[in-house]
Amino acid sequence: MKKIVYPNYKTKCGWNALLPEYQNKSTLSHDINSDVVIIGSGYTGLAAAKRWFELAPDDAITMIDASSCGEGSSGRNSGFLIEIALANDAKSTSLKRLIKCNKLISRTINKIKQVASTATLDCEMHRTGTYRVAAGDVGLKSLLKYQRFLEASKLEHKILNTEQLNELIGTNYYRQGLYTPHCYLAQPAALIRSLTEQLPPSIQCYENTPALECLKNKSHWIIKTPQAEIKTKKVIVANNAFCGKLGIGNHRVATIYTYAALTEKLDEETLSLLGTDNNWGILPTHRLGSTLRRTIDGRLMIRSLYNYDKEEKIESVTKKLRYHLKMRYPNLPELNFHSVWGGATGLTLNGAPLWGQIDKNLFISAGCNGGGVVKGTLFGELLSDLANNQPTPNIQQFFGQASWMPLDPFREIGFNLVSMIERNRAKAEI
Ligand SMILES: Cc1cc2nc3c(=O)[nH]c(=O)nc-3n(C[C@H](O)[C@H](O)[C@H](O)COP(=O)(O)OP(=O)(O)OC[C@H]3O[C@@H](n4cnc5c(N)ncnc54)[C@H](O)[C@@H]3O)c2cc1C
Repeated sequence: MKKIVYPNYKTKCGWNALLPEYQNKSTLSHDINSDVVIIGSGYTGLAAAKRWFELAPDDAITMIDASSCGEGSSGRNSGFLIEIALANDAKSTSLKRLIKCNKLISRTINKIKQVASTATLDCEMHRTGTYRVAAGDVGLKSLLKYQRFLEASKLEHKILNTEQLNELIGTNYYRQGLYTPHCYLAQPAALIRSLTEQLPPSIQCYENTPALECLKNKSHWIIKTPQAEIKTKKVIVANNAFCGKLGIGNHRVATIYTYAALTEKLDEETLSLLGTDNNWGILPTHRLGSTLRRTIDGRLMIRSLYNYDKEEKIESVTKKLRYHLKMRYPNLPELNFHSVWGGATGLTLNGAPLWGQIDKNLFISAGCNGGGVVKGTLFGELLSDLANNQPTPNIQQFFGQASWMPLDPFREIGFNLVSMIERNRAKAEI
């Protein structure tokens, strides 16, 4: 079987399909030299490129992507931009660490907001806050833990019962919820396009140009792409879920697919059954749970399901997503999906990123763990600082460092076993 070294999704990204047609950037077709090559033009790659330009405007900066803008995970995600880092516990040492993380995160969100506010496209970026909800005992237990953490951190929140949730979001599926204001919702494909659009023009971006190999030479690196090679002094690996496929970080980052569907625009009568809040996002309390959104233009979005290393058939994904949406909204008329798609996330065993210099002049930021819109932007920027010998905060101390994982077949067996157990345990949250 042919080895997959870059994403090749079965369907187009639904968010991107709602935007005006995108004019692809050119594909690299001749050999070039560069001072730095950035592999991947998602949030991480773009932030790295922008920062590199600020630090060394005369450098030749090249960015390549296997796909085109809006069609990578940076356009395929659910569009939650969380303003605060979370801890697994409410110990005072964890809380002190979080204050430092949150300063960095808040600075990054402000930069993203600035781009969104001056973009030609409407990124639909609004500080809506987010609901965390529980439908079963497993969810309730984890919600209580989250509540304790919010209380200990003195973070604003509101506890909601089934009736209150029903009033706001039109479903009595959940037994309890917690509303926190620390989240923005955005149209992710519009956001990544806007970030791309505002890059300095001297940065050379090539699309549909996957890196097939990164080879180390004495004083430089060679990046092989299907039609040409790039000779470069430094490399920034920002292809997240696919870094291991290039033989970089494969003991730390695994490729996990998850899926989303957007409905057609709902009519007024259907919208009137959806509660009083007209732009909201729900995050699950269990890591295998479903994310839900009501978009500002009157659609529902659901994101759920996981597969190890291989994208599931879209027909079966569609059936399952429809079922999970119906469970939450049995009273709504049959909903038509406008689009259904899969996307890859980089999973690490302990949820910490893989970040830093991992070989001479080879730098990496990967392992988003399904939450890298803001953190990817932050880590990409800091990676360029590191590669240009600028001072950086202690990322490992603040955000942790991805731990070691076995390779296949053990990894696949482990993932499938744990997911099977957890899927059963937390059925109601999925
Ligand atoms: C369905 C879904 C929902 C999600 N929801 C959220 C959310 O609500 N909030 C949130 O913060 N995060 C969410 N995520 C995760 C989020 O999408 C990622 O954290 C974010 O995109 C990470 O940005 P990145 O630039 O690090 O990586 P990516 O966005 O994955 O970008 C990597 C880029 O590298 C390219 N690439 C891969 N291999 C190669 C190669 N060999 N050569 C060249 N280019 C290559 C890809 O085409 C891609 O464009 C979600 C992900 C999915 C799939």
